[in-house]
Amino acid sequence: MSILTMLAVIITGLLFGSFFNVCIYRIPKNESLVFPSSYCIHCNKSLVWYDLIPVISWILLKAKCRYCNNRIPVRYPIIETATAVVFLFLYFRFGFSGAFITNVILCSLLIVISVIDMDCQIIPNELIVPGTIIGIILSLTGVSVHWTDALFGLLIGGGTYFFIANISQWVLKKEGMGGGDIKLMAMIGLMVGWKLTILSILLSIYLGGLIGGILLVLKIKKRDDTIPFGPIIALGTFISIVFGKDLIAWYLHLFAY
Ligand SMILES: [Zn+2]
Repeated sequence: MSILTMLAVIITGLLFGSFFNVCIYRIPKNESLVFPSSYCIHCNKSLVWYDLIPVISWILLKAKCRYCNNRIPVRYPIIETATAVVFLFLYFRFGFSGAFITNVILCSLLIVISVIDMDCQIIPNELIVPGTIIGIILSLTGVSVHWTDALFGLLIGGGTYFFIANISQWVLKKEGMGGGDIKLMAMIGLMVGWKLTILSILLSIYLGGLIGGILLVLKIKKRDDTIPFGPIIALGTFISIVFGKDLIAWYLHLFAY
């Protein structure tokens, strides 16, 4: 594993992250992702290339727009850096392989979906539909998991959350989980196969309880507030993808007397 390839992965991650910032801002507003080119969200002025270098431009501009002096939110460099870190983890885990490509696509979708869900409490079909189509193509062409594995993943992922959503609706008399979460988990199942789907579901439920509890204790959320579940599903899935094999082996080992 050479320094140069690692550097290439990091730079690719930063550039992808920069594009994800555009997606996160424009998809909920139904704007085109390509036209117009990047602009300041305050003064609408088009930005030149040297103001669009991930992280570096933000630092050089001291987090302010060159033209109108309005603040550029810190989440832009954070999302760029997070994307680079995620790509690096995937590269360490898979090397350059079909699994790497599949999981880069999946994690890219998860990053964009998570932030949009936190901003607007929606999981856009504009991301779920292409993600599902790509997932089907990747499994049928042998790049990701075998198509039967993908099919079981889709059914288990979507089915489990469909079941939980209906139960919680029935018991709590309020919508605990939205249709977006069900579709998201089905799409993830399609890409990762049934084993990691089960692990992702378990982890997201544990993480949901944990994060929900922490937000309540810190009084960031009240008991009746809804917490967007998309980011929690994404986090559980990312942990499954990178550490899943080890986690499953460790778990089975507990019972192997
Ligand atoms: Zn501006």
